[in-house]
Amino acid sequence: MNLIVLGAQGVGKGTIAKELAKKYKLTHLATGDILRENVKNKTKLGKIAEPYMLKGALIPTPLIINVMTKKIKQIKKQNFILDGYPRNLKQARSLTQIKIDKVIHLNATKKTLIKRISGRRICDKCQSTYHIKNLPPKKEGICDKCGNELHQRADETPSAIKKRLKIYHKLTEPLIKLYKRKKILIEIETEQPIKDIIKDCIKQI
Ligand code: ADP
Repeated sequence: MNLIVLGAQGVGKGTIAKELAKKYKLTHLATGDILRENVKNKTKLGKIAEPYMLKGALIPTPLIINVMTKKIKQIKKQNFILDGYPRNLKQARSLTQIKIDKVIHLNATKKTLIKRISGRRICDKCQSTYHIKNLPPKKEGICDKCGNELHQRADETPSAIKKRLKIYHKLTEPLIKLYKRKKILIEIETEQPIKDIIKDCIKQI
């Protein structure tokens, strides 16, 4: 089974995708994590992507299509869950030859999204994510998994967040209609505890 998770910034895509990856033994392919890793390692891709990411803009579509097509080929026969891809219709078209079984759309109000984004903390070393209220680490400011210090992402300034949400509504929401037409869309309400969101996803899958 191959899955896609769709949802606005702050909806909890990464957290839910990781849990579903564990449950169904899927490879978790998160574009944001892949790009941040490249920025950290100062690769050619990272150098091109960084200014876009800092502004909260999407990186050029041909570039991300190239990255993701290669990644999907690399993992060969393994099943996957895509998180952060596709984000526009062109990117969705790059997947037409690939079997996608279900697309999970995670819903939340704008107020909830902003609250979730501002409390989000990330480990630069192992990419684990936390939330100061909803998913705090055992020791404040320290990653449970690797002991590294936690940070706020550089693109989580109010202006970058606003820009990312705008882009989401304009470019990514049309994908919801597309997958609804294909009859593979699952709608999930996220105004409930994470364990209940996961239960809901599993039940609907
Ligand atoms: P969010 O979903 O909260 O914006 P991500 O971690 O998924 O965060 O992505 C961070 C940044 O990486 C995006 O703001 C964008 O610059 C870039 N990015 C991620 N996925 C894509 C994509 N599919 N197409 C273009 N740019 C992307």
